[in-house]
Amino acid sequence: MENIHITLADGKAVEVPRGTTPAEIARKISPSLAKEALVARTDGELIDLSRPLEQNTSLAILTPQDPDAIQVFRHSAAHLLAAAVLELFPNVKLGIGPPIETGFFYEFLRDEPFTPEDLERIEAKMREIAARDVPNERQLLPRAEALKLYRQSDQVFKCELVEEKTTEPMVSFYTTGKFIDFCRGPHIPSTGRIKAFKLMSVAGAYWKGKEGNPQMQRIYGACFYTQDELDDYLHKLEEAKLRDHRRLGTELDLFSIQEEAGPGLIFWHPKGGLIRKMMEDWLRDELLRRGYQLVFTPHVMRLDLWKTSGHTNFYRENMFAPLEVEKADYQLKPMNCPGHILIYKSHLRSYRDLPLRLAELGTVYRYERSGVLHGLLRVRGFTQDDAHIFCTPDQIESEIAACVDFAFAALRTFGFTRFEVELSARDPSRPGDYAGSVEDWQRAEGALENTLRRMGIPFKRMEGEAVFYGPKIDVKLIDAIGRAWQLTTVQFDFNLPVRFGLEYVGEDGGRHQPLMVHRALWGSVERFFGILIEHYSGAFPVWLAPVQAEVLPVSGKFLDYANQVVEKLRSAGFRVHLDDRNEKLQAKIRDAQLQKIPYMLVLGGKEAEAGTVSVRHRAKGDQGPRSLEAFIAALSQEVASKQTN
Ligand SMILES: [Zn+2]
Ligand SMILES: [Zn+2]
Repeated sequence: MENIHITLADGKAVEVPRGTTPAEIARKISPSLAKEALVARTDGELIDLSRPLEQNTSLAILTPQDPDAIQVFRHSAAHLLAAAVLELFPNVKLGIGPPIETGFFYEFLRDEPFTPEDLERIEAKMREIAARDVPNERQLLPRAEALKLYRQSDQVFKCELVEEKTTEPMVSFYTTGKFIDFCRGPHIPSTGRIKAFKLMSVAGAYWKGKEGNPQMQRIYGACFYTQDELDDYLHKLEEAKLRDHRRLGTELDLFSIQEEAGPGLIFWHPKGGLIRKMMEDWLRDELLRRGYQLVFTPHVMRLDLWKTSGHTNFYRENMFAPLEVEKADYQLKPMNCPGHILIYKSHLRSYRDLPLRLAELGTVYRYERSGVLHGLLRVRGFTQDDAHIFCTPDQIESEIAACVDFAFAALRTFGFTRFEVELSARDPSRPGDYAGSVEDWQRAEGALENTLRRMGIPFKRMEGEAVFYGPKIDVKLIDAIGRAWQLTTVQFDFNLPVRFGLEYVGEDGGRHQPLMVHRALWGSVERFFGILIEHYSGAFPVWLAPVQAEVLPVSGKFLDYANQVVEKLRSAGFRVHLDDRNEKLQAKIRDAQLQKIPYMLVLGGKEAEAGTVSVRHRAKGDQGPRSLEAFIAALSQEVASKQTN
């Protein structure tokens, strides 16, 4: 038989008979590799270990160490789920079953909803099939035969997929026991390797995501290579649940969303409002210190303005419907940019006015479908910490550097220390798809990249990820339990200056177009607040805490002294609350503890006599007595330094 040449991942070449499988080659290399192997990669394409190799090729045998293997593994887990469901509920109609970030899902059409008990039975059945180590086998069927097979079993969605997705005469299928799936693959060799999984939830989803289509039931599962990884993930989920800002928002009385007022609209209660004031005060001071100018713009403006800006075209579906006033259409603002542009345009600007940095805590309204709304994180009305910078080309690098520096300050001050930075660049093979000249883009991308390098900030360059009007930098922060959140964006815009005909008089006396940068550091005050609540699990650092100290007289006898203490703390500028209820001290401490108040000051006879306070810290417990002056001095220090733990 004829031989073919295989180049292995380590560069070694082997010669094997045509038709040899990657599994056989893995066995030749080492038994442990063969045991670990999940899937193979030939010339960049993932294939089954059992697929015969027909020509000279490069070959990598993928084990769990290879990042590409996990998706295949999880996709095979989705097949295992479908196989189990079909054994228990033979009449379900199958939809799709892809891998996802932490596992997989498969969707089914079934009249009755899947109950938690059903999920338990399905999971048990999955374990049973996994234990049988059923092979995942690939077959090729003629397209017509495939359609016939699915029609016979009344799998309407599968018929639809075969009809839409295949043009070739032969269609690939995978079988796992009785389950047969129209699927490109590849898959891991058999079900036996899938051990660390758990079915998590059922959620409704329209077939193909289109409203009006049949409502499928998606069964979601978590899936990892090892039980340790799965346990770790489940533990993190549990922790995230405890930190859920929606629950804490109610328990700590920070904010609410009122059905009566409408979904996605946030009511800031006094305690949440106080934290917001602290956030905004810090931000406004810092904006002024860094040479920004504060502006305010209207919440509704003529629809025509949004036609000029282009938002009525490319942003229409995210906007509320226009409202009519005196026969003119007005638009609730989804963005602050056009407002700031109008301020820019209110004068003829000279190069001496630049850079002009206009900042606004600007409240915007965007239409989000009710199904995607989520507490403070995804809302319909929110306040951006927005700014627009208008500058000359030679000011760009220093402006970008200042934005990035400001962003890190804004996140670090609030207690975040780990970040991920991405630079979205254009796809150079499609120059026609972008606003602005090639030169503009090169300058802007260069400025972003140089700035990050000079500042020593590691970043990932995302080729082709930029939006049509300019490149950008995104900063994600990593929170206390390791989750990444996208916050800061520094975004160039080559589109709006043209649409609005922005100009400035240059040093040469001629008219030039300014460069424009949009930037938001937290993104939205609401969302950042939600992240802060979860990051701190509601136990805000003292400088942000709505109540910094709870004063707890042990009985009504010491109310006078307690009032004196409260008075002194208030006049020293602290936020204090007096618990004068007729409750036992233990109950008062428990309640203050539940409200996550940083300090509790216990006052009884000894304290009243000596003019001291007995200090209890929410995390460190009893700190013993000290003079009120000493407590005030320490607290002042903690607040001034914005200590975050
Ligand atoms: Zn599949
Ligand atoms: Zn903007």
